[in-house]
Amino acid sequence: MSSGVLRVGEPVLLIDRKQRRYLIDLKKGGEFHTHAGVIPHDEIIGVEEGARLLSGRGAGFLALRPTQADAVLKMPRGAQVVYPKDSAAILTWADIHPGARVLEAGIGSGALSMALLRAGAAVTGYECREDFLKVARANVARFCGPEELERYRTELRDVYEGVDESDLDRVVLDLPEPWRVVAHSAAALRGGGIFLAYTPSIMQVKRLREALEDSPFELHSTVEVLMRGWHVAGEAVRPDHRMVAHTGFLTTSRLCAP
Ligand code: SAH
Repeated sequence: MSSGVLRVGEPVLLIDRKQRRYLIDLKKGGEFHTHAGVIPHDEIIGVEEGARLLSGRGAGFLALRPTQADAVLKMPRGAQVVYPKDSAAILTWADIHPGARVLEAGIGSGALSMALLRAGAAVTGYECREDFLKVARANVARFCGPEELERYRTELRDVYEGVDESDLDRVVLDLPEPWRVVAHSAAALRGGGIFLAYTPSIMQVKRLREALEDSPFELHSTVEVLMRGWHVAGEAVRPDHRMVAHTGFLTTSRLCAP
């Protein structure tokens, strides 16, 4: 995580008075154009994070480093990303910690990879599509530091065909048929290791839970995370009218002796 003044090469979030967010990468001589006029990047480079800037036409903007949630919602996507509410829960339910050896598949756009790396894990990512692998690596390089990138190893391959790693602490899956990875995970995890799969459909959960029942995994659990925002303005204090009502289910399990 960077601190201090905003520097060349960094992603920066510009937020206007209506809370619209724009993500830019600071370049020497670059320009940020909106309907409300132009801000030269050179006026943003070297200012403190949280600074208030004015466009050529006098519109005010705040300049902040994007949080991980900002980055995930704004970054280019190959595949659909895991939303921040779910990646937050995945970090806790998969018990991700500094130094944890994690296999992640598929890596899609790299949103979940970023969360795992930020939490200190050493991540090996399997992804079967070369174009998605490229997007994921570019997103991770853009939003994570060099120390995190050193802990990120990716391979273009199909996880259903097998896992080469052994003695893993965690397996974290976001792909259509996680039941096809249960036996590979049982072989690749250490005793007590945690398996977690994110799946959008409850039919996937049912099939996965059946596969887990027939395996050395124990302590199966499935949850979903509902997050509702609130509108707070003077006396009008109430839940937001809209919410993201469904993303996916999180199923976890722990490897025990056969
Ligand atoms: N969690 C990711 C999104 C993953 S989308 C994020 O937050 O950005 C699901 C990904 O799984 C896709 O990129 C897809 O190509 C990949 N995938 C599907 N089946 C796979 C398999 N058998 N092996 C490896 N990757 C697979």
